[in-house]
Amino acid sequence: MSKVLIVGAGGVGGVVAHKCAQVPEVFSEIVLASRTKSRCDAIADRVRAREGRGIVTESLDADNVAQTTGLIRKHQPDLLINVALPYQDLHLMDACLETGTDYLDTANYEPPDEAKFEYKWQWAYRERFEQAGIMALLGSGFDPGVTNVFCAYAQAELFDEIETIDILDCNGGDHGHPFATNFNPEINIREITQRGRYWERGRWIETEPLAESRVFDFPEVGERKAYLLYHEELESLCQNIRGLQRIRFWMTFGEAYLTHLRVLENVGMTRIDEVDVDGVKVAPIKLLKALLPDPATLGETYTGKTSIGCLVNGIKDGKRRETFIYNVCDHAETYKEVGAQAVSYTTGVPATVGAMMMLTNQRRRPGVHHMEQFDAKPFLEQLQARGLPWSIRES
Ligand code: NDP
Repeated sequence: MSKVLIVGAGGVGGVVAHKCAQVPEVFSEIVLASRTKSRCDAIADRVRAREGRGIVTESLDADNVAQTTGLIRKHQPDLLINVALPYQDLHLMDACLETGTDYLDTANYEPPDEAKFEYKWQWAYRERFEQAGIMALLGSGFDPGVTNVFCAYAQAELFDEIETIDILDCNGGDHGHPFATNFNPEINIREITQRGRYWERGRWIETEPLAESRVFDFPEVGERKAYLLYHEELESLCQNIRGLQRIRFWMTFGEAYLTHLRVLENVGMTRIDEVDVDGVKVAPIKLLKALLPDPATLGETYTGKTSIGCLVNGIKDGKRRETFIYNVCDHAETYKEVGAQAVSYTTGVPATVGAMMMLTNQRRRPGVHHMEQFDAKPFLEQLQARGLPWSIRES
């Protein structure tokens, strides 16, 4: 029996609230806090209608450490689940340190004024979390998150030696809008307009943004073109998977999406620095975010599936092996269950499972940790049981 504080009431926050409410034996009390309280209240209404449980809602500016510590002291949660934005990670970790509260997130910190995400800022908390006897679980979403656990499972159960890993992410769905992002538009566009980067034999290799592509046959979706991107799980997996020689990340985009993105970039609408508009300072990407559909509202019209997994190459019993470990998730099914599209769902379910495992001491160790640093099997069993079944395809 434990109390959880969920911070962030967007697409992912809504899923986490529903999924926690479905497990009252672990999450006996739920508090949902976010910048705009009305969004928390709307989620609370939906959770009451669907799951028959009440959750407490609060207004919170998570950039304000004193406000968060005040809220933590008021409610005394056992764990804080951060599903706000990466900008809030360090402020929330500071509040957790000050109050001795465990922490979990799904996206690594990036500074608001620089489109660059790295774990170095969060790794700097390792010693302090250890000394305080509290835990931070980083990247408990799908990618990062489940992809890290798939790699740990491959290492423990499927391979004697892993040589290469390619993480392949396909959203084969259609939301019916000319252009929309499946999670926070600002964070999403910052991520995919960066230079590509992958790790090979101890060094990082950079590529032009979206310059490299491959066609891959995604289970239950079919052949799609995927583009090489930098993604945060590469940074921890290249350290934690033994003997690894290369790791890359690929994501699919349709032609219409890429054309929109190119035009927006060319006219400066993806810029993160502020420009002067009649004496008002505005960052074009924030204006763009305000104009684009809210990811939390996409579910209603979404059809099709996501298909995401890890293609692992290596040796088993002296023979070469190539295995794709993956999950397929249907947008319409997740909308029926929790009123959200599959990208929010595939992030919110692992966040909930990670939280369950911390709160029941199956995945709890003081310090700052990644998903692949724990036993993969119990996590994957729970993931399957909570709505995200996974499969293996041998090449
Ligand atoms: P949304 O933009 O839909 O939701 C973000 C929420 O955070 C909003 O409710 C927003 O409030 C709130 N918020 C923003 N700033 C603050 C603040 N200072 N204080 C309190 N609340 C704040 O994003 P998503 O739900 O789509 O994504 C949530 C997180 O999940 C992101 O960090 C994203 O990167 C991550 N993610 C991870 C994935 C993975 O697989 N690992 C995949 C997809 C997403 P307001 O309503 O006022 O704007």
